[in-house]
Parts: sequence; structure tokens; C-alpha cells
Amino acid sequence: MNLILLFPEDFIAPDRVRLGGRRLAHVLEVQRPTVGDTLSVGLLNGDMGRGEVAHLDPAALELQVLLDRPPPPKLLLTLVLALPRPKVLNRALAAATTLGVARIILLNAWKVEKSYWKSPRMSEENLLHQRILGLEQARDTVLPDLRLARLFKPFVEDELPSLAQGSLALLAHPGAAEPWPRAVEGSVTLAIGPEGGWTDREASSLQQAGFKAVDLGPRILRVETALAALIGRLV
Ligand code: SAH
Repeated sequence: MNLILLFPEDFIAPDRVRLGGRRLAHVLEVQRPTVGDTLSVGLLNGDMGRGEVAHLDPAALELQVLLDRPPPPKLLLTLVLALPRPKVLNRALAAATTLGVARIILLNAWKVEKSYWKSPRMSEENLLHQRILGLEQARDTVLPDLRLARLFKPFVEDELPSLAQGSLALLAHPGAAEPWPRAVEGSVTLAIGPEGGWTDREASSLQQAGFKAVDLGPRILRVETALAALIGRLV
């Protein structure tokens, strides 16, 4: 946690917050400040700044806060991610958020197991929590949009073409003829497949929706590694 993310309900005065629970536990265990120390803070979807420790005991932390800086800019990047298995989902959501992805779409695919959609990790609470962890890691405050597309065909045929319009739309697909572009300017929509890959039909539907299939080299990467490697090459 490189930034303590604040929520409107934390404020007990216009410039003072009171924290307990997970954030207090983290501060006590990892940051171990004393009264008068300053910690990095930011308001969800708002400015960031400093919080001076005004009071600290095992039950509560009170910070005097000054929010005077905007959060870092997001990447002009929409990620279309075939829904990974639940454990990987958590890591992928947090990593995409940390890397600065502006919009995340979790998409069904043939090789996505139906049970993944029913996992407790798909609760709204967890989907929010993983993105919050990603923001706290990155020192950002702006929650990326998240959308669930449970039906591949109608989403890819009817909605994706207009969502991706005006951006460079890339389909990560091992063995594709084109290499992965580097240092792209402008906005990008990036589609990453499930652990078993996209089927040929899915790859051609995505290509019909305007995506160009690109290859990242002979090594097959795990979804969360692919995510970091692909984004790293784009920026
Ligand atoms: N057996 C699958 C591998 C899937 S890896 C297959 O052959 O397609 C999971 C996803 O990560 C892929 O669908 C792709 O989107 C991305 N990915 C992993 N390694 C890649 C590479 N070398 N080139 C392009 N995309 C890759």
C-alpha cells in the first residue's frame, strides 16, 4: 500500500479522517508511523496529498489531510480480458489497475469455464476491492471502469466495434503473423485470451470487429504476465 485510499465516509472534519480495519492494520504492521509523521493519501476518484498522523492507537488512526495534487494520468487503454480463473482474476484486476488501464471488460469465451462466472470472487465487493488494492499499490485514486460481458457473440458483434472505434485494436494471439507494435501513440484496445487461448472462431470474430491479431514472440505467457509485457511494450 503506497497510498492510503480515502472514502468520503472516512472524513470526521473537512481536513481530518479517522481510519480503522484493513487500512489501520496495514499502517500499524508495515508503515509503523508515530504521531507527526506523514503518509501518502488520496481521495477515491479525487486528489492526492499528505496525511499527518494526528492520533494513533490500536483502534483508530486519525490523519490531518491536505489533498493538493491530481492523480497520475491513466493510459489510453481499454483491456478486454477473457475471464480468468478466480485466483488469477484477482491478480489480473489489481495489476491492470496498477498499470493504469482506464477501462476493463471481462469477457466470456469458449475456454472460460462457466463456474468462473459464479465464483464468490465475482462479487461486486471483491471486484471493487481488487481495483482498490491496485490503486493503493500504484498511488492512484481513479477507479478504472469495469464491465462484465457474459455473452461473447452479442458483445463482440454489436458493442465492441463502437467501443474500440478510434483506437488501435489489438488481439493478443500466439502465432499471429504480425509482431506486437512498440511505443504506440493514441488509444489502444487490447484483447487478451483465456488460459486455453481464443478459438479460431473467436479470433476471427474479433478480427471482424476491427482487431488486428498480433504475436508477442515464441514464449507463451501467463495471462497476468502477458498483461504486463503487452502494456510495457505499448507505453
Ligand atoms: N494455448 C494458448 C495460450 C494462451 S495464453 C494459445 O495457444 O493460444 C493466454 C493469452 O495470453 C492468449 O490468448 C494471448 O491473448 C496472450 N498471450 C500469451 N502469450 C502470448 C504471445 N506469445 N503472443 C501473443 N499473445 C500471447
